[in-house]
Amino acid sequence: MVESLYSPQEESKSIWVFLEQSGGVLEGVSLEFLAKGRQMADEMGWQLTGLLLGKGVKKLAKEAIAYSADQVIVADDPLLGEFTIDAYGQVAYQAIMKWKPSVFLSGATPNGRDLAGRLAVRLRTGLNADCIGLQMNLETGVLVSEVSGFGGGVLAMIEMQKHRPQMATVRPGVFLPGEPDKTRKGEIIQLEVKLTKEMIRTKIKERVVGEGVDLTQAETVIVGGRGVNGDYAMMGELAKLLKGEVGATRPPVDEGHIERERMVGQTGTVCRPKLAIVWGGSGACHFVVGMHDAEL
Ligand SMILES: Cc1cc2nc3c(=O)[nH]c(=O)nc-3n(C[C@H](O)[C@H](O)[C@H](O)COP(=O)(O)OP(=O)(O)OC[C@H]3O[C@@H](n4cnc5c(N)ncnc54)[C@H](O)[C@@H]3O)c2cc1C
Repeated sequence: MVESLYSPQEESKSIWVFLEQSGGVLEGVSLEFLAKGRQMADEMGWQLTGLLLGKGVKKLAKEAIAYSADQVIVADDPLLGEFTIDAYGQVAYQAIMKWKPSVFLSGATPNGRDLAGRLAVRLRTGLNADCIGLQMNLETGVLVSEVSGFGGGVLAMIEMQKHRPQMATVRPGVFLPGEPDKTRKGEIIQLEVKLTKEMIRTKIKERVVGEGVDLTQAETVIVGGRGVNGDYAMMGELAKLLKGEVGATRPPVDEGHIERERMVGQTGTVCRPKLAIVWGGSGACHFVVGMHDAEL
């Protein structure tokens, strides 16, 4: 087995969270990770560190501290203004090799997945992708990642004994964000960025932001399954009256009745609405996993 670039004996007792931001706003998944990371760090008596990359993002470090980070490492540079895997991968690698954290967590978002995959290969470590739960083994201090496998038939608890950092990605909506405390104190560390334009092979010509729906933010989700036979008009009306969003199971999405971004479940979105109403769905485990934290 290939050895990772540093060992458990060399690790610093800290949990790192990749603080994803877009347009100067911390992504919800970063706040969710800060809350979960805080709980795990407290259980271990470890430090919770945020890694913040971008251009003009220093002010977000204070926000991350308010949301429970002990320390935020900030790399602020014009070349980090847009996410490119060359730039973000390089800077995150530099930071990780400097401080050698025990755990590195990233959102299972398009950019978070990209970054985590690149780093895991470069650091010769493992990556537990798309975890549905995380916890620390309090006796051994090893991260336990819960991963569902074989189409949801198996729940695997994965521990990385010899490789560091212990990496995992989790989709938005799995953990709950905490409340900010603006009086919290923490440390902000500026990371010297060693980047040149030549190192970045991706050229971003235009940034197009879709007007897509974000089911993770909806307080009410009205889901239509195969049983509604592709008729979403009434559900749309109800969702509008309840100020909610329409969701779907997989069959109507596969049949082209509704957009893929509205799919709830293991391969769709994991959401946590206050109210969920499901019509014409059988409650398959792959669907339920995306809804089981609904309040009602
Ligand atoms: C790896 C993997 C990942 C998957 N990921 C997802 C995922 O993310 N999301 C997802 O949804 N699925 C996912 N699936 C598919 C999943 O296993 C189910 O097949 C799917 O959720 C079933 O959708 P359904 O409940 O709409 O359809 P069905 O199971 O066919 O249920 C339809 C229901 O509608 C009822 N019905 C029919 N007609 C009427 C009527 N007139 N009035 C009232 N009720 C009626 C039927 O009795 C039935 O209970 C995944 C599968 C795999 C293998």
